[in-house]
Amino acid sequence: MCMKKKHVISGLFPDELQKLLKDFVSQAYRGRQILDWIYEKNILSFSKMSNLPDKLRDELKLVFEPVSLIEVDKQISSDKTTKYVFKTYDDEYIESVFIPTRKRATICISTQAGCAFGCMFCASGKNGLKRNLSVGEIVSQVLLIRKDNPENPITNIVIMGMGEPLANYENTLKAVRILNHPECLRLAARRITISTCGLPEQILRLAKEGLQIELSISLHAANNVLRNRIVPVNKKYPLEHLMQTARDYIRITNRVITFEYVIIDGVNDTKRDAEQLISLLNGIKCKVNIIPFNPVDGTDFRPPKAFKLEEFQETLQASGVNVTVRRSRGTDIKGACGQLAAHSNNA
Ligand code: SAH
Repeated sequence: MCMKKKHVISGLFPDELQKLLKDFVSQAYRGRQILDWIYEKNILSFSKMSNLPDKLRDELKLVFEPVSLIEVDKQISSDKTTKYVFKTYDDEYIESVFIPTRKRATICISTQAGCAFGCMFCASGKNGLKRNLSVGEIVSQVLLIRKDNPENPITNIVIMGMGEPLANYENTLKAVRILNHPECLRLAARRITISTCGLPEQILRLAKEGLQIELSISLHAANNVLRNRIVPVNKKYPLEHLMQTARDYIRITNRVITFEYVIIDGVNDTKRDAEQLISLLNGIKCKVNIIPFNPVDGTDFRPPKAFKLEEFQETLQASGVNVTVRRSRGTDIKGACGQLAAHSNNA
């Protein structure tokens, strides 16, 4: 059966939706009603949009769909972190995570099926990159997870799931603008974080977007020899280049950058590593977020010993670095950082 691809409403700006509605059903003004159902009332099916005439709902179903993913699996961790597996129209599998805490409800979303960057300690890149996600697929993750958790209003979105967001730059940025748009999700940009393995040209481009988003850079090593080994993109963009870009980003945006540092037992966890990190960050307006390594199948890496983690943190703190440790959530369902892998086609 040949199925025509439909327009995914969650991938459209309000004016784009209005134009398409004008072309297909000659009723541009219905756009506002439809967006109100989707973003204000959490309704993702035309059948339930009761202020639209029946005939229009049937017409809409032929050409449009509110979201474009199908939930195929959901696992709830003992700490209530929930991992969702979604299937795309072409049978790719992607994962997203819902992380409720006392004060927040954060959704972690993916931007690519698979990943091309092959960081040694991360599950997402083990089978390479399948493809970029569309804008609709990126925003759909948020809408579907929000609908499934109506008791926890979303406070934050972290673009830290599968894939490298800045390698799918246009789609990621458009998704951010839709999530932030006053007629769409209306989530403040500063509650949206993009995490990158460190692509300098795209970081500079991002600096000029005029968005108040948070930027995190995955550092994980403070010298080129080690970073070349565990974050291979470093061979293309060595630390000198990346750190100069970080300084430029801060100068242009006047915002703080967070550097992520996954601590792995015996790899990058010594006092000497911490001291190198301190000198690398010297004079940069930043925070450091330490992430204890989460076990991933197919690697020999192990989580850091508790006393090493503490020593690393204290060494940074003692020199005045603003440092936090990310508490791992959802490890029992492989929903924690670096554990997201498509149960892909070959699973
Ligand atoms: N590609 C982006 C976003 C995805 S990963 C990036 O590299 O930033 C989100 C964060 O989880 C990154 O800092 C990543 O390095 C980290 N991470 C990956 N594997 C991990 C693991 N096994 N344990 C802990 N953190 C991990």
